[in-house]
Amino acid sequence: MTLSRGGNLPEAFLAELKAGFEPRFVSTEPSDLETYGRDWTRVYEPKPSLICFPASTDEVSRLLKLCSAHRVPVVPSGGRTGLSAGAVAAHGEVVISLERMRALEPVDPVAQTVRVQAGAVTEAVHHHAATHGLTWPVDFASKGSSTVGGNIATNAGGVKVIRYGLTRHWVLGLQVVLASGQVLELGGALEKNQTGLDLRQLFIGSEGTLGVVTGATLKLCRLPREPEVFFFAVADMASVLRLFHAARSQTFTLNAFEFLGLNCLRAVQKHRGLASPFTGEAPYFVLLEVEKPESEEGRARLEAWLASLFEQGVVLDGTLAQSPKEAQSLWSLREGISESLSATQMVYKHDLSVPVARLEAFTSDLVSSLGRTYQGFEVFLFGHIGDGNLHVNIAKPTALSKDDFLARTRGIDAEVFPLVRKHEGSVSAEHGIGLLKKHALAFSRTPEELALFRSVKQALDPQGILNPGKIFD
Ligand SMILES: Cc1cc2nc3c(=O)[nH]c(=O)nc-3n(C[C@H](O)[C@H](O)[C@H](O)COP(=O)(O)OP(=O)(O)OC[C@H]3O[C@@H](n4cnc5c(N)ncnc54)[C@H](O)[C@@H]3O)c2cc1C
Repeated sequence: MTLSRGGNLPEAFLAELKAGFEPRFVSTEPSDLETYGRDWTRVYEPKPSLICFPASTDEVSRLLKLCSAHRVPVVPSGGRTGLSAGAVAAHGEVVISLERMRALEPVDPVAQTVRVQAGAVTEAVHHHAATHGLTWPVDFASKGSSTVGGNIATNAGGVKVIRYGLTRHWVLGLQVVLASGQVLELGGALEKNQTGLDLRQLFIGSEGTLGVVTGATLKLCRLPREPEVFFFAVADMASVLRLFHAARSQTFTLNAFEFLGLNCLRAVQKHRGLASPFTGEAPYFVLLEVEKPESEEGRARLEAWLASLFEQGVVLDGTLAQSPKEAQSLWSLREGISESLSATQMVYKHDLSVPVARLEAFTSDLVSSLGRTYQGFEVFLFGHIGDGNLHVNIAKPTALSKDDFLARTRGIDAEVFPLVRKHEGSVSAEHGIGLLKKHALAFSRTPEELALFRSVKQALDPQGILNPGKIFD
């Protein structure tokens, strides 16, 4: 282990680190500093001092005790797919990567639970549970890289929230290491436990600022029956919402209701070399997934509903996947958007949500505001609209420098965020606050709430060594 590149870390800390852990525990390789010092955002320069790779909760605990003793700041790191710079180490922090902690214990098919280490990859949990006909229904495009620890720390949402809710609904027990090194076991495998405050919920969604999650007992559910995946072309945003209302009033089980604008479709087609399902153009598209009806009667009802969509002019065109492969291709058109937009340009991302009942009024205000404020910019609209969540991505014009672009977006934020507040929404539906959205927080949280955040932080991490500067300063 070479510790000479350890930035401004205290010599005594480095010496104890070297003495207390095996050589492979630490890396100061430039490529590791670059890789593990950042997440999916490309706004901040990664500048960690060193990267630690604990293989057990005990190692995380001993490391945090040491960091506490020397007041060394740390950044917990999962799959680094985060979109708010929560896992970015830009100020010489020690990064704690959980990637050597990926163990999956056997599934308990009766309790429908599984205990995993926090570095387990989300999709690996899906495969593991599927062998018992079960699933952990936290699902989105980055599931092949994101980790359970990261999902818990961001209370991740995704494409199935409309049916299953957020990550927090699917966590029974948590193992968390506090800044002091103390290990907490919260909840175990209990479904019911009304013995005072539910401390798990403090850590879920806390973006690594209150503790490092090292393990979790996950609640599983039955794998849904084979899905029916539809892709519709619609005339305008109002039709997206009409289709949503029409779907919600039916008796079939809706797994997902996602929408995207034409320029998103074009970007994915270009980036992934995919064909459009339609010959004509339309301004918006909806991907709708339902669980295949079990009975003949259910199937007949679904077909009648589909026919009515065309008769009533709710949709312009539509297609139904005829095989799992075709379903996957349709999903690629939606799930490939973030990757396709970021592949060739810098994008500024909004992750807004409003109560479902306010969607219509909010989207109409938002679309007209964006048209005015972002004149001359390319704006991409897509998202999990079925749960009230819209993603707005703004592409940086090539002529603008990164700094000028970010300054412009900040100015426009000052117009967009009040709209979110007017409609009682959130400035970050599922990506978190991290470094990127700190300036937005006050639009969704009151000064009283922020004061409580600080009290909780002070109680659990009095020296402020856990992910400092994330969520608030
Ligand atoms: C293409 C793409 C699509 C995406 N789609 C969605 C989506 O639909 N819905 C959604 O919610 N998100 C989405 N995301 C964002 C991201 O995948 C999620 O936020 C995910 O939960 C992050 O997991 P991670 O392991 O990559 O965490 P990281 O990015 O490594 O970390 C995220 C935050 O969690 C903290 N953290 C990580 N591990 C731990 C731990 N063990 N203990 C304590 N804190 C920890 C970090 O410090 C950081 O603050 C998408 C990202 C991409 C790139």
